[in-house]
Amino acid sequence: MPNEEVAGVPHATANSVDDFARNIAAVRARIAAAAERSGRSASEIRLLPVSKTVPEERIRLAVRAGCRQLGENKVQEATRKHRALADLDVTWSIIGHLQTNKAREVAAYAAEFQALDSIRVAEALDRRLQALGRGLNVYVQVNSSAEPQKYGIQPEELPGFLAALPRYTSLRVRGLMTLAIFTPDTERVRRCFTLLRVLRDRAREADPDLIGPGELSMGMSGDYEVAIEEGATVVRVGQAIFGARATPAGDYWPGAAGIG
Ligand SMILES: *Cc1c(COP(=O)(O)O)cnc(C)c1O
Repeated sequence: MPNEEVAGVPHATANSVDDFARNIAAVRARIAAAAERSGRSASEIRLLPVSKTVPEERIRLAVRAGCRQLGENKVQEATRKHRALADLDVTWSIIGHLQTNKAREVAAYAAEFQALDSIRVAEALDRRLQALGRGLNVYVQVNSSAEPQKYGIQPEELPGFLAALPRYTSLRVRGLMTLAIFTPDTERVRRCFTLLRVLRDRAREADPDLIGPGELSMGMSGDYEVAIEEGATVVRVGQAIFGARATPAGDYWPGAAGIG
């Protein structure tokens, strides 16, 4: 069952530590239930709270409520928050498309990068990381919905892309990431997640060394339970924790402006 809060009533804005604790507990309960009905353990699923567009003072409340990792889709915003919140014990995940001229910033502080979608970006990140003596966990973003405006490697290009990554030795491939099609039709959403799992399984069979632990980062506030049923090991949840965003979906889904 998809989240009816997203389909109908928008998520209320969390404005206190208690609000955040309640929202996080509710998401975790739904994660556990989805895991259980698919014969999985909730302990194999990581909840990544997505704090994009949320101001720093509210992020502080979320951290007091227990968030230790934060996902941001825009490097400029992530860098600003990373600096302003440097006193907090949190790690930063970049989950949105990266331009090569921002690779230096990501290499400097990100704990992981979940939107690797080109060799140019792999090369730019690796060069910066080598200079810093750092490694970075990365997820290859796959376009699982065949929408031309979506970022991500095309499914048929994935084997070749994975085969090209080992030469960038500072990048540690953790698995695959995707955004499902933006629609209330759960079965179409599910097909995107199933495809990502099938691609992961095939990649593992072809050469397990190229896909690392083979994690699947998929599922957001509106569809994380479906994603878990299809094998997600990381769910990226913003609005169900922080409250509804005013910004249109086009901000993070190129081409989707006006839909959300
Ligand atoms: C915004 C975003 C999310 C979280 O979406 P919500 O609807 O807030 O849960 C997940 N992944 C990516 C790549 C995003 O940009």
